[in-house]
Amino acid sequence: MKGRILTGDRPTGPLHLGHYVGSLANRVKLQDEYDTFIIIADVQALTTNFEHPEKLPGDVRQVTKDYLAVGLDPEKATIFVQSLVPQIAELTIFYSMFITVNVLRHNPTIKTEAKQYGYQDMTYGFLGYPVSQAADITFCKANLVPVGADQVPHVEFARKIARRFNELYKPVLAEPEALVGDVGRLVGLDGNAKMSKSLGNCIYLSDSPEEVKQKVSMAVTDPARMRRNDLGHPNVCTVFAYQKVFNPGFVKELKKACETAAIGCVDCKKRLSAELNALLDPMRERRAKYEADPKLVEEILIAGTDRARQEGAKTIAEVREAMCLDYF
Ligand code: ATP
Ligand code: MG
Repeated sequence: MKGRILTGDRPTGPLHLGHYVGSLANRVKLQDEYDTFIIIADVQALTTNFEHPEKLPGDVRQVTKDYLAVGLDPEKATIFVQSLVPQIAELTIFYSMFITVNVLRHNPTIKTEAKQYGYQDMTYGFLGYPVSQAADITFCKANLVPVGADQVPHVEFARKIARRFNELYKPVLAEPEALVGDVGRLVGLDGNAKMSKSLGNCIYLSDSPEEVKQKVSMAVTDPARMRRNDLGHPNVCTVFAYQKVFNPGFVKELKKACETAAIGCVDCKKRLSAELNALLDPMRERRAKYEADPKLVEEILIAGTDRARQEGAKTIAEVREAMCLDYF
């Protein structure tokens, strides 16, 4: 039997190169080998954006187009909307009965994100976000979860929940494992440790060639290299970090050329934009097809959500039986 993948994103804006190297590239690579489920986590978007639900319909479609553009094939990957799969909400409630508040309070990702958002207090939903993520992963009995490095503690937590459930009741759930992409955390264009929508330091998969060139030209480089003839220090340069990821064949030569000032930042950046645009061009082509046919995007989501609901129904029947909740 094929293994199963579950992974996804919060629809809070367009996807970027960090998503690509952290998780999307693995999803595309593995969709032939694994039965793949891709969740658009709209409920989890509300953990931080509950005041702006009106953005969700547009964001859900945008993320779907990003998936299709990147090469996820709806024939192989089931793309679905979280809030339309009620079994996930049911599982979240059942798991909440045996997870303590202190365990959630000490979750490292929750702590980091609460600080990032400046929360003094937090909603019940935000604190319980890892529980709901465990429900996402286990509702279809996924065993592999391709994610960026920041998500690894959540997957570990989901694994613990599955194990605890299996011990408490019956061995119904699969214990998932995280799979981190080639680059678990891509730096931001501004030199920040993480490219992130909420930090505004991203190259989006939907950016035009000109936008890519413009953003790369503004990217932070070695601050000690003010003039063209100053010697460079590639190891502190953001653009060099990108070259390592997106233009690995050029890195050895570039390192030497930068350190000896044989190449300047302007040329180095040109090489990088060209490489990034070559990566993004086929995505642009695929995206154009879906942009032209919004109905097709909707049909893909409806079919995917339907299939997810069927899988959810199977799992919840077993879960209810294991928990003695199958009364009639
Ligand atoms: P937000 O700022 O709204 O939290 P985000 O840009 O951090 O958005 P998420 O939706 O939180 O993106 O993350 C979705 C997936 O992409 C996760 O698996 C996450 O680990 C991965 N990911 C996000 N940013 C990066 C990055 N810079 N490098 C590698 N992986 C990333
Ligand atoms: Mg995030």
